[in-house]
Amino acid sequence: MSHVLAGFNRAQRLSQLQQGADNTVWDMIVVGGGITGAGILLTASQAGLKVLLIEQQDFAWGASSKSSKMVHGGLRYLGSGQYNMTKDAVTEREKLLNELPGLVNPLQFLMGHYKYQFPGPLVFNSLLTIYDWIGGKRNHSYINHGIADFHAPGIEQNKLQGATQFADAVTDDARLVMRVLQEAQECGGTAINYLSAEHIILTADAVTGVNVADQVSGQKFNLQAKVVINATGPWTDKLRQQLHAKKAIRPLRGSHLIVPSWRLPLAYSVSYFHPEDKRPIFAFPWENSTVIGTTDLDHDSDLDQQPCISQNEVDYLLTGINKQFPQADITESDVISTYAGIRPVVSNDASNKKQLKKTKPSDEKREHSIWNEQGLISVAGGKLTTFRLIALDVLKVAQHYLPDMNLIDLQAAKLFQTIPDTPVDSILHPQQIQRLKSQYGKHYSHLINNAEHNELRPIGSTNTLLAELKWSLQHEMVVHLDDLLLRRTRIGLLLAAGGEQLFGQLQPLCQTALHWNEGQWQQELSRYQGIIQRYYSLPKHRQLLSTQDVSSANAVAN
Ligand SMILES: Cc1cc2nc3c(=O)[nH]c(=O)nc-3n(C[C@H](O)[C@H](O)[C@H](O)COP(=O)(O)OP(=O)(O)OC[C@H]3O[C@@H](n4cnc5c(N)ncnc54)[C@H](O)[C@@H]3O)c2cc1C
Repeated sequence: MSHVLAGFNRAQRLSQLQQGADNTVWDMIVVGGGITGAGILLTASQAGLKVLLIEQQDFAWGASSKSSKMVHGGLRYLGSGQYNMTKDAVTEREKLLNELPGLVNPLQFLMGHYKYQFPGPLVFNSLLTIYDWIGGKRNHSYINHGIADFHAPGIEQNKLQGATQFADAVTDDARLVMRVLQEAQECGGTAINYLSAEHIILTADAVTGVNVADQVSGQKFNLQAKVVINATGPWTDKLRQQLHAKKAIRPLRGSHLIVPSWRLPLAYSVSYFHPEDKRPIFAFPWENSTVIGTTDLDHDSDLDQQPCISQNEVDYLLTGINKQFPQADITESDVISTYAGIRPVVSNDASNKKQLKKTKPSDEKREHSIWNEQGLISVAGGKLTTFRLIALDVLKVAQHYLPDMNLIDLQAAKLFQTIPDTPVDSILHPQQIQRLKSQYGKHYSHLINNAEHNELRPIGSTNTLLAELKWSLQHEMVVHLDDLLLRRTRIGLLLAAGGEQLFGQLQPLCQTALHWNEGQWQQELSRYQGIIQRYYSLPKHRQLLSTQDVSSANAVAN
């Protein structure tokens, strides 16, 4: 087994960390295994640093597996005058489309123009001209016939005057995080999940490390570093407040519904305005299903509980989609799964609740901010799309502590090494091979060549192959069943009841790869089903959980 694959063995990695803890001073420890932390691990490793990333739960467990999955410039941000953010994001979108085809894919959008609705076609198309100019290609057009017949069958036609088609991109957010971590590891970076930063260690008023806790064994130990990066997204203030910093994060929840594509087949991501509050919302095709999103609400619940959709949000999203597609008549009974994520939005008024409520969530800026408190460098905000630029900004601040770091070439450099085509003996379509190549990097040919033919067939209505589940179990630090079904693959979101049809097939695979006995399998299964019911289902299904089930699901999922 190669070094890289061995590097994703968690038990080995943990024991190396514990044994070397007293004698190792890392250049940098990154706390948080979402896209922000992963991006910092990658760029810092490319700059030649000795870097460790620790994640308290699973990689991409936070916002980075629960986003709307758009790799986009954010047309809406351009509309609200956030030109720089849009420009950066469009440039990054183009870079990712070029470097990761198959994992980051073009997605066509469509917005209907209705009489008296703002923005009308003229304003909207002017915005798109700027948007396309930034991206360096003309990518939009106005459509004035055949909209309901060819482009978006079933779309509301009352007062429909025309539509604009434009282009952005879409990804699998959790897989993007894994791909970035894998690339980082190939550049010498180290990442480990289920290891949380408990306390920031200060020596003579300067940060010199973190006290960490292994979430599997409960063991605690100290790790030393020249600089510690706090990339904990919605949790950013928790570590900062250990150093008495003022609160800066306004956690905003966004929720989604997933329905089977046959209930609302879409060729485009359709953008529309919600009839009640006129917020822009959307429905888009993703992984052979249709995702309906999203909301933008203050999230006042405990951040240590996973977020979940509320009944009001379900009603809001259903009202919106049924207004836009009246014939579709989407109801709760069509919903396969739901998910909710917390946006780590930076707000000047985060510490003043009264003042905070004066700014509507959707009016808060989405740019990232960086703070340096005694050598704890915290970063929050921004987008999935802009993770590379966020990482570069963090490294510029960290350079104060790491003067030998080589940042010069990183700005223009490719983020991902080109992967040579390797002969694969397979029944797969070239598009499937391209996806696997972008998703698993240089390991894609091992994944394919080591699979039996029957493992190369998609599971149910998804694009996921059984061979990918096997690969992840063996090589991607899966600790719990939910890591495998909710983040390494998205089976838990895409198949009914979290993919229960697969459990019989999965049991021997998990037991072999992870050495689980029958009792452990049963425990994992009930943990997983609790998580699905509590956090990825409709609220009415949650009510069916007994109090005891709820507390055990919380305990395992926190
Ligand atoms: C509903 C929604 C829709 C979105 N849609 C889009 C979109 O379409 N396109 C786009 O570009 N962006 C989108 N975003 C924004 C984007 O998803 C986020 O900006 C991004 O994922 C934030 O990543 P992060 O790594 O900073 O935070 P997170 O992904 O939340 O990661 C932080 C991690 O830190 C870990 N952590 C916390 N405390 C500790 C600790 N003490 N020790 C160790 N680890 C710790 C957490 O477990 C978590 O995994 C969306 C966000 C949401 C919520």
